[in-house]
Amino acid sequence: MAGGSKSSQKQSKNASNNKQVDSQIVPIPTPSDENQNNNVPIVSSFNDRIRPLLDAVDKLRHLNVAAKEGIQLPTIVVVGDQSSGKSSVLESLAGISLPRGQGICTRVPLIMRLHHHPAATPELYLEYTADGSAKKVTTDESSVANAINSATEEIAGGGKGISNNPLTLVVRKNGVPDLTMVDLPGITRVPVHGQPEDIYEQVTATIMEYINPEESIILNVLSATVDFSTCESIRMSQKVDKTGDRTLAVVTKVDKSPEGLLEKVAADDVGIGLGYVCVRNRIGEETYEEARIAEAQLFGTHPLLSKIDKSIVGVPVLAQRLVQIQATIISRCLPEIVKKINEKLSSNIAELNRMPKTMTSVGEAVTTFMGIVGSAKESLRKLIIRGEFNEYPDENQMHCTARLVEMLEKFSAQLRDAPENDHKSNFLVDEIRVLEEYKGIRLPDFLSQSAFLTMLNRKVKGISGIPVGFIEEVWGYIESVVLSVVMKRCEDHQQLQFSIRRACHNLIEKLRDRSANWVLEVLQMEELTDYTCSPDYMSEWNSLMAERPGFLNSARSHSSVSIVGFGTVLIVESVRKSLVLEQAYDLKMRIATYWKVVQRRLVDSMALHVQLSLRNLVEKELEKGIVEELMGRHGGAIEKMLEESPFVAAKKEKLSGSIKLLRESKDVLAAIMDRIASSSH
Ligand code: GDP
Ligand code: MG
Repeated sequence: MAGGSKSSQKQSKNASNNKQVDSQIVPIPTPSDENQNNNVPIVSSFNDRIRPLLDAVDKLRHLNVAAKEGIQLPTIVVVGDQSSGKSSVLESLAGISLPRGQGICTRVPLIMRLHHHPAATPELYLEYTADGSAKKVTTDESSVANAINSATEEIAGGGKGISNNPLTLVVRKNGVPDLTMVDLPGITRVPVHGQPEDIYEQVTATIMEYINPEESIILNVLSATVDFSTCESIRMSQKVDKTGDRTLAVVTKVDKSPEGLLEKVAADDVGIGLGYVCVRNRIGEETYEEARIAEAQLFGTHPLLSKIDKSIVGVPVLAQRLVQIQATIISRCLPEIVKKINEKLSSNIAELNRMPKTMTSVGEAVTTFMGIVGSAKESLRKLIIRGEFNEYPDENQMHCTARLVEMLEKFSAQLRDAPENDHKSNFLVDEIRVLEEYKGIRLPDFLSQSAFLTMLNRKVKGISGIPVGFIEEVWGYIESVVLSVVMKRCEDHQQLQFSIRRACHNLIEKLRDRSANWVLEVLQMEELTDYTCSPDYMSEWNSLMAERPGFLNSARSHSSVSIVGFGTVLIVESVRKSLVLEQAYDLKMRIATYWKVVQRRLVDSMALHVQLSLRNLVEKELEKGIVEELMGRHGGAIEKMLEESPFVAAKKEKLSGSIKLLRESKDVLAAIMDRIASSSH
């Protein structure tokens, strides 16, 4: 029969696949003959080298190194479509009853740690975290299913939702294989009543998280009753394991669908690199021992099933294969894990050393405090005064000197663009109106100073918001820089942060007020007196006045006049006919020329003021302000430094804990690596 020879060829290929992993493993456990006998433990007295390896990995798993330190651990992950028999397979391996039923019953990742132990009575317990606290629940074989269900409810809630927060079940039992496996929720396409809409996405995300790492072995549970190529779990494992090299298939329910199974397994249409193992799980109320006997009989005597090569059938074979695969992946991954642990350890130690030391005396605290203030002052001196940015090379916001120049340029542009600086619109209209009000019994060609000051006052009042806003902006910016520098310096001293922040805030507030008063004074001065010693003023005014006769000539008859050194202006009817046109021209040209002086003076004096105030802030006020606040007005802050901040204490504790555990793991692993090295000679 052509088909038969083809399938037996495939089958032998499969059998050789099974050996692929075995040849790479360092300590190969020898399957004893007892394993073929169903009345004794399925996998007994394994090579004692595997136990410590697995213990070490379990210890790391317990430390949660995968989540906490990003160190992936070699893991056997059980996946399968819903009701494919995942939990039943685990039951068969552990010899216990797990929750079984319709719909989704595995709702959290179940990490199952099986340990062979010599005592007759098994020990079972659950470990998990719920509501932020670690729990350990001791249980026994008869109530483990219920215990798992109630722990699942605690973790994932009472509904049908799932969670990726795992639950660990430790089974110490005579004769179980030394294995750690993770059972995952089954894949469902369509949410059943009460399940969240996105159950499919949630489940696949959890499964992906577990099967994606190269260190994971995928145990794909397939029901013999279905076409393997339609299994969702096959599709998922193919995504992350394209070659199939880390996928092992377990075919369940062979009793239900023995027809064509041999061919299906031999054909390997779905590319399972590590091969297939066919099993029959416990059915109904059978005991575990009865189930093993029934399975052996089935594969021994069933007309179709007995034809399948004995190296790929039965729970004992599965146990054996898994233990071997596990030993292989563990020894393959260990060197990398050791390396990662060492790296993590040294970085944690370095971090712990960088943490602030606990202080024991007020003197020490004062020294530390003064050190903080001194170094903040030095940083601010660089940023604000000297324009040195080596401490903040990429943070443009901290490059004060440059940012202050930009603010000053903006301030100057605002003055330039203000309506007060527009001397051409409504040409002479205001001037004429003011002059009419300051008419007096006097010679007409003398310009009244009051008229000039009135015009000047209007302009100064008009722009007064601009310098006030500029000063606000400068201090707002400086406050943010000061706070960010000072807060960075006292990062490790939470107790100081509040007082120092308040001290800085109060100090800047005070300086801001001082500046604001100064600005108001400057504006008042500009309103009160029209003076400049600059010769430019006179020469510019003179040259504009030289244009006056020509202007008067044209203005009487034209609606637009061009004035050299000033520009073209429109002349409205009322201006053209005004009796004080001459004086109005004079007044306009004086004010236009003088306004340039005022603008320049404002910008220059703001610049000098800011420089002086900032220098005072850094060199005098800052240290004084902080010391006064912390040692004087609100004393006690320094003493508080002696108490370690809860944040630092917690961080130190966490680091020390992590270091301790990493060291432990390192020692465990080191001992194992030594043993592997010496046994390979
Ligand atoms: P899971 O959803 O993948 O965890 O599947 P379960 O382990 O809960 O199994 C689903 C159903 O299939 C249960 O009713 C099991 O009793 C049944 N089952 C599992 N394995 C076998 C098997 O080898 N033979 C038979 N006849 N039924 C099985
Ligand atoms: Mg299940």
